[in-house]
Amino acid sequence: MDIRELEQRVRAAGGRMTKTRRAVLESFLGSDGPQALIGVREALSKRGCEPDRTTLYRELRFLIGAGIVSESGIAKRGRIYELVRGHRHHLVCLGCREVRSVPFDDHLHREEERILRDERFRVLGHELEFYGYCERCR
Ligand SMILES: [Zn+2]
Ligand SMILES: [Zn+2]
Repeated sequence: MDIRELEQRVRAAGGRMTKTRRAVLESFLGSDGPQALIGVREALSKRGCEPDRTTLYRELRFLIGAGIVSESGIAKRGRIYELVRGHRHHLVCLGCREVRSVPFDDHLHREEERILRDERFRVLGHELEFYGYCERCR
């Protein structure tokens, strides 16, 4: 994934590539894991971009609505943001508190189909986190 591809997705969602938007997307591309809001702000600040809270919040809402960025809630530590790169879930280390995003296969989506069939309940989404210890903390 690169900035050109992200720009196409922004345009496909009816948006323009503003300076702030480009800086936000570049900072996500430059980070290797999900970011809390404060991490997003720090990465932006390093790029000389310091949007106020409202602007940044509005920017994230646009990117989430366009399916370009995902927002997840990690218990007890607030919201985290990252680029959408397929079906992913988070590994949360109870030692160093690192949150890692890992690709996930589609068996959970098959479970959602089963829930529709057996429970007559249409699932729109799910949240799943794994808690444990990373290699360093084990
Ligand atoms: Zn750890
Ligand atoms: Zn899932």
